[in-house]
Amino acid sequence: MSDRIIEPVPSEFLVPFDGTFRVADAPTAPSDGERGKQHKKRHKQALAAIVDEMRELQRAMYAFDSHSLLLVFQAMDAAGKDGTIRAVMSGINPAGCQVSSFKAPSKQELDHDFLWRVATRLPERGRIGIFNRSHYEEVLVVRVHPEYLESQRLPGKLDLATIWQERFESIRNFEQHLARNGTTILKFWLNVGRDEQRRRFIDRIDEPESNWKFEPGDVAERRHWSAYMRAYEEALCATSRPWAPWYAIPADDKPFMRRTVADLVRRALKAIRPRYPEPTAAERAAMQGYREELLRDD
Ligand code: ATP
Ligand code: MG
Repeated sequence: MSDRIIEPVPSEFLVPFDGTFRVADAPTAPSDGERGKQHKKRHKQALAAIVDEMRELQRAMYAFDSHSLLLVFQAMDAAGKDGTIRAVMSGINPAGCQVSSFKAPSKQELDHDFLWRVATRLPERGRIGIFNRSHYEEVLVVRVHPEYLESQRLPGKLDLATIWQERFESIRNFEQHLARNGTTILKFWLNVGRDEQRRRFIDRIDEPESNWKFEPGDVAERRHWSAYMRAYEEALCATSRPWAPWYAIPADDKPFMRRTVADLVRRALKAIRPRYPEPTAAERAAMQGYREELLRDD
């Protein structure tokens, strides 16, 4: 691995790089020792401390101006992407961070290859970019609904037996290229359980102030749950690599999820080892000259 690529942050939730990840074995809830009211409070307190540390690290990364950080979020509906993104961003200087949400592609986006629209939203050096959905929709929702490919006007005859592997290859190469050029990539699959999703949808119907969040289309997508799980499993196996690791985060408990994601982001920022640029001896001497001039200036 190129030494410009930062080693992935180890975690029990890191998706292995050898294709052995199985959705059926991935927990949707934290272990018994991390659950319950007491723990929720503890996770919230820990999150606040993590966010403080992230704020400092981000300032240094901005000044360092060499690396960028790309955070990719994918999940089934109601897994809590928005809240997690808000929590991670809560301490960060908005000038150094940009969130991009990817919906069904526009006419203009369909005039390009599937990586084009994400390429235009990549973070600049020194910045953090957050993708709320991403190029992975192209091997998730599009895989579950292959009829969406028709609007993409791909040349030649479509071969559903090879297209997903080809896309995985494109994604791996794209992400490796980014990593080699200074973008540290972390990808989070917020893994909500099917029962928990059902509970959250019902709450959206029962609680008047949450009605606006209820989308009949989300219930329709839920009918394809097992197809989505197969698509996630294959996509994560094929694209979790040292230069762009996936983390499968249990999402049934929101405080645990937010704390876990924020802590991985904090550790990734730390691994970049951002340093404030040191002036050279000549620059320091020149600054002293300016200082004296400013003192004389009344
Ligand atoms: P929320 O519902 O919390 O506001 P969301 O991310 O679900 O956020 P929506 O506008 O509800 O936003 O949904 C966006 C939809 O666009 C999703 O169903 C997603 O699968 C779909 N989408 C995203 N990218 C693509 C793509 N490349 N091709 C087809 N559909 C896509
Ligand atoms: Mg939605």
